[in-house]
Formats: sequence, structure tokens, C-alpha cells
Amino acid sequence: MQSKKLYGKPVSKQIKESLSLKISKLSKHGIIPKLSAILVGNDPASKIYVSSKHKTFITFNCLSDIHELPEKSNDQDVCNLIEKLNNDKSVHGILLQLPLPNHLDSKKILDCISPKKDVDGLHPMNLGNLLQGNPEFIPCTPFGCIEILKYYNIEVESKHIVIIGRSNLVGKPLMALLCQKFDIGNSTVTICHSHTKNLSYHTLNADIIIVAVGVPKLLTSNMVKENSVVIDVGINRIDDNSEKGYNIVGDADYDNLINKVKGITPVPGGVGPMTITMLLNNTVSSAEKTII
Ligand code: NAD
Repeated sequence: MQSKKLYGKPVSKQIKESLSLKISKLSKHGIIPKLSAILVGNDPASKIYVSSKHKTFITFNCLSDIHELPEKSNDQDVCNLIEKLNNDKSVHGILLQLPLPNHLDSKKILDCISPKKDVDGLHPMNLGNLLQGNPEFIPCTPFGCIEILKYYNIEVESKHIVIIGRSNLVGKPLMALLCQKFDIGNSTVTICHSHTKNLSYHTLNADIIIVAVGVPKLLTSNMVKENSVVIDVGINRIDDNSEKGYNIVGDADYDNLINKVKGITPVPGGVGPMTITMLLNNTVSSAEKTII
């Protein structure tokens, strides 16, 4: 590891370069990777996320469309659209933008996505395959964290990794990845959550801490040992008096931790840029499978 600041941009750039080659190879077979995103309701943050995913796909000469459904849609309306996309041969990846409006059953709707087009890796079949050590699609944010560890040569084998957060989206897939007999794996993993007693006891014993909680600056410098590495997945919006009216901070107290740890991902600019890159990666892999 050369730098203490583990930026996502160079990692993402390297992966995108290799994806560009794959995309042009696919075009020789007449295949253009296509992502169909589903956006239900009017959540402003979700609109921004979907639109930046769309822009990335277009920039990389891939296809992307956004299916907007009204807030009042029911489970069946969303599943009907998914079924149409499951059967559309031009679509390689289906992305259901989360969170859904409260009245919808996210689990039931995610289950409707064909596992072959589940580029977010959240279908039970894909999560099950990951748990068995045979992943088809790895959920994008955990995948991005693994790529950061790989790019910066952060040794994980036999290291103690503490993950804070046990969501299906981040914490649990990361646990499943890091304890496998994979190149980036063979770690001893502890998973902490809102019911964990004495969080510091665990973090002070960690070589690497991955925090995915959604609590601004939860991880402070007195909670880590020197020479540990911190991967901060959190994205928290804090209102302030700046021109924008808010500031984005992570789940780790970056300004103080940077003076103590061996490496830390900044927020923004760390894990954030990786998520869309890995979505592009998974969609390209899905398109490649159509010619094998
Ligand atoms: P979630 O709300 O589904 O899960 C949060 C987890 O944190 C839960 O498992 C809960 O038990 C745990 N938790 C809550 N308070 C805690 C505490 N005080 N101590 C220990 N554990 C506690 O959230 P999520 O979807 O996993 O997202 C977590 C964070 O990561 C959020 O800030 C989210 O915005 C961010 N995120 C970022 C990206 C990205 O692209 N960088 C992608 C997904 C999520």
C-alpha cells in the first residue's frame, strides 16, 4: 500500500479500462450490454443514483433504460414489469433501485428478477451461491470493497476483519466473500451490528474494519489500533450552511482516523465510485454469458 488515502477512482479506472475491451469484443458479436433500471416513486436520492448509473452505461457504449413507475404502484405492477424485462433478450441486467416505497414488499419483488439478470446479486439464488463459494453475481458495493483491497495490496489472508453492519446489501455478502477460500479471502471475520455489545472491543482487535452502518462518524480513532485499515461504506448527508446546503460524510471519523491508521477510504471518493463500476462489470459479464 503506497498511500494512506484509499481512493476508489484509480481502482475504478483500471476496471473500466478492462471492461471497455470486453464491451468492444462483445460488439463484434453484435451484443451491446444493456441495463434496465426500475425506479418506483419520487425519492430524489434514488433518481440521482439511477441517472448516474444510466450516464455511466451510455459513456461506455452500453445500453440503458429507466422504467419509472408511480409511487402508488403495487407489488404486482412492479413484478409484471420485471417479468417483461426477464423475457426481453436485449436486456442483460435488471436493477431495482432501493429503497422502494414502504408499502411495497422488496423481498418479494427482488425474488421476481431472473437470477441470470440479477446484476445487483441480491436474488436468494445468487446470495446462496455466494455463500457456497460459487458466486455468479456479487453484490456491487461489497464487490467494490474487495476490488479496493486487491488494488491497494491489502493483505487479508489470515487477518481479522471486523464488519460493522449486517445488511443483505453490504455486511452479509462481505462476510460471505471474505471468509471464503478466495484469492481475496481466507480472513477471520467478525460481524457486528446494532445489538453488538462493546463494539470497541471488536474493532480494537481488527486488522481491517469495514463499516456500513449509516451513522455519521460512528468509528472513531480511539476504537482502532494503529496500522489497521478502514473501509468506509457509509454515505450520510449532513445539512450545513454551505452553498449546497449539505455535506456528505462517512461512518468513520476520517479526519482523526487518517493520523492513526495505515489506510482509509475517504467519503466521498472511496467506495462510492466502485458501486457503479461493479454494476457495469456484472452487466458485461451477464452479456458475455449469452455467447458462451
Ligand atoms: P442498513 O440500514 O440496511 O443496515 C445498517 C446496519 O448497521 C444494520 O445491520 C444495523 O444492525 C447496523 N447498525 C446500526 N446502528 C449501529 C450501531 N450503532 N452500531 C453497530 N451497528 C449498527 O444499511 P446499508 O444498506 O447496509 O447501508 C449502510 C451504509 O452504507 C449507509 O450509509 C448507506 O448509505 C451506505 N451505502 C453506500 C453504498 C455505496 O455505494 N458506497 C452502497 C450501499 C450502502
